[in-house]
Amino acid sequence: MRTRFAPSPTGRLHLGHALAAKEAFGFAATENGQCLLRIEDIDHTRCKQDFKLGIYQDLNWLGFDWPIPVRVQSRHYMDYAKVVASLLERCLAYPCTLTRSKLKAGQRSELENTLRPSDYLAQFTVGDNTPHPKPSLPYAMRLNLSKSLELMRDHSLVFDETGLEKKNKAIDAKFALNLWAASGRPDPIIARKDIGVSYHIAVTHDDHLQGITHVVRGMDLFEETPLHVLIQHLMGWPTPIYHHHELLTREDGEKLSKRGLDTSLHSLRENGLTAAQVLAMASP
Ligand code: GLU
Repeated sequence: MRTRFAPSPTGRLHLGHALAAKEAFGFAATENGQCLLRIEDIDHTRCKQDFKLGIYQDLNWLGFDWPIPVRVQSRHYMDYAKVVASLLERCLAYPCTLTRSKLKAGQRSELENTLRPSDYLAQFTVGDNTPHPKPSLPYAMRLNLSKSLELMRDHSLVFDETGLEKKNKAIDAKFALNLWAASGRPDPIIARKDIGVSYHIAVTHDDHLQGITHVVRGMDLFEETPLHVLIQHLMGWPTPIYHHHELLTREDGEKLSKRGLDTSLHSLRENGLTAAQVLAMASP
């Protein structure tokens, strides 16, 4: 089996990350598998190089190790853009310039169905020597949810979940997606205006590319999973087993902050805590 720990360098790692790392690396160790480290830094509006270096430092200090090379997503925008272009090509995605409130009021983007995949791709800097294209688009790209669900009418979108209440469960992604489509909520964004791609596309692409068999991640991402399962099916990628673990109960974090400490691993270390103490505190 293969899993991954996939932090985003938008700040220093904190106790919640220590728990997530412990879950992912621990899961791989008990299953005799492998846990990769992936840096999810496509959001160049928030990610910083210093925070990225901090991830390596903090994880090393905690005693984790991982296979090299590490997948750093900001070097691969084009991979993600190609997924979006493929959905656009099949009219499963469309560009949208409207605000949320206009969409809710039933307006549709004028650009809809007029954008060619090559025009979208042209927004990205292509070429091996340009590893950091940082696009910003004149539109967001949305997934046409009802059309995608229609295409999946005869497919099962059931996925296996082993984390919830620590039991094996088969969960039907269609249930949540149908509710979404029926609710009038705007279609999911699969390419953000400001970064040209999205977390949903990058994470599903990389889980497939890296042969991830088990996605071990926090409960806070459970609600994103039906969309990820749909994207996997639309792209013909296998769906991994999901294991959403519990999050840190606030108690320890609060106690520490009441004592004037922040819960970043960096500060805990500076305050004299050992890695073993921090790992012991990082429990749900
Ligand atoms: N990069 C995401 C985060 O830091 C995790 C994504 C995932 O595990 O699917 O919250």
